Amino acid sequence: MNRKGILTVVSGFSGAGKGTLMKGLLSRYEDLYALSISATTRSPRPGEQDGREYFFRTREEFEQMIAQQELIEYACYVNNYYGTPKAYVEEQMALGKDVILEIEIQGARQVKRDFPEALLLFVTPPTSGELRKRLENRGTEDCDTIRCRLKRAAEEAEGIEEYDYLIVNDVLEECVETMHQIIQNEHYRAVRN
Ligand code: 5GP
Repeated sequence: MNRKGILTVVSGFSGAGKGTLMKGLLSRYEDLYALSISATTRSPRPGEQDGREYFFRTREEFEQMIAQQELIEYACYVNNYYGTPKAYVEEQMALGKDVILEIEIQGARQVKRDFPEALLLFVTPPTSGELRKRLENRGTEDCDTIRCRLKRAAEEAEGIEEYDYLIVNDVLEECVETMHQIIQNEHYRAVRN
């Protein structure tokens, strides 16, 4: 592969189904994409493993990563730090893979500032009722956290226009294909410009 990888940011409301979408994209097109694994100070949910869903770090460890400039971007989200380690992203981009960062809006803004050619996608469930239902069905967060996440979703909605594409996650398979097509089209645009 000798083409340059495209850096793609995928944001969306907590509960929009981004995780499932990413899994679908990576299992269908594993040769094309690499998913960045973030560092976070939040506690693992049942079934999550260090180094697979996230690198789970203490606040002190995370602040050290910030100080040593090991992160491409970072943000505070509902009382926890989240950030993208630089090394893996640089390595995969150099291999020509399209690297996906599943991050929230403050991080997306930092990426756009430092990598203006990055593609920004925003994923949303079909309705706000569906959003609440998905969060509640997940059963991993208490009522206060769900409330904070829904409040945060309303704030993030105001930033949607900063994204290049809005993707409605209704039928999973179709959504995976739409995302794949958008990213691959970006390669043609990059070649033409
Ligand atoms: P969760 O706790 O549900 O896994 O993630 C909460 C939010 O943090 C989601 O919107 C997710 O996209 C975002 N997030 C995950 N990793 C990162 C990261 O490395 N940087 C930033 N800025 N946000 C992240």
